[in-house]
Amino acid sequence: MTDKVHLGHRARKRFGQNFLNDDMIIDKIVTAIDPKPTDNLVEIGPGLGAITEPVVDLSGQLTVVELDKDLAERLIHHPFMGPKLTVHQGDAMKFDFSSLIKSDEKLKIFGNLPYNVSTPLLFHLFEFADHVEHMHFMLQKEVVKRMVAGPDSKAFGRLSVMTQYYCHAMPVIDVPPECFKPAPKVDSAVIRLIPKKPEQRTAKSTKILNTVCLEAFNQRRKTLRNSLSNLLTSEEMEQLGIDASKRAENLSLAQFIDIANWIYDNKQ
Ligand code: SAM
Repeated sequence: MTDKVHLGHRARKRFGQNFLNDDMIIDKIVTAIDPKPTDNLVEIGPGLGAITEPVVDLSGQLTVVELDKDLAERLIHHPFMGPKLTVHQGDAMKFDFSSLIKSDEKLKIFGNLPYNVSTPLLFHLFEFADHVEHMHFMLQKEVVKRMVAGPDSKAFGRLSVMTQYYCHAMPVIDVPPECFKPAPKVDSAVIRLIPKKPEQRTAKSTKILNTVCLEAFNQRRKTLRNSLSNLLTSEEMEQLGIDASKRAENLSLAQFIDIANWIYDNKQ
């Protein structure tokens, strides 16, 4: 077997295919997900089924969303897993996850995500936070670091603010490159995301919160006075108790929300 062919499938770079190939790591991921027969489980990018198989063994059923037509076909016709899977062949970034809600059972979503699209995919998933119990994702370790970073650090950015706005986030497993086939060039990590309750998410408009983050972090070396000048004046920042001579990375999540709500109330 060459590096690129795994279980008879040639890994497609454009789909971010790096297949898990380490039983101990797979075991740890499955333990973190803790699948039960009553769970409403969804896997993004099941690929060749490295996580799918042990999860379906425990849960008996599973919905999967896979972009690669060949891999989706393989899963549909898989002798053991096939009958237990509901396979959606398509792009998870366009998938309406709320369509999978049955009665009151919230979704438990997991996946070893394609690294080339992980950030937009996470932003898409955050939109379904109210329908989700928890999520477990394998990502580039650097992305996980950014998601959990706090203020006053270089890793703190829009992804940190928006992740922590929607979810409680905690890294659970570190995964080195040699656990995949083909091995990626970067370290990986699994993150657990538990959506916050709607009453904990106090932004009046998440669109405005996102815009504030974009403006502030696009010019992260600049002071807030300059980077946010299109949105509010330094006097208006002072009224919110925010020092306009600080930079975006010095603001807390609560302060980002305060700015967004001020704009919602005063500039709409
Ligand atoms: N879960 C498998 C594993 O751990 O071995 C495969 C993980 S691989 C890193 C990413 C998987 O996501 C591939 O199967 C790839 O085809 C699929 N994929 C890539 N882009 C996708 C998208 N936009 N929507 C759904 N699946 C996607």
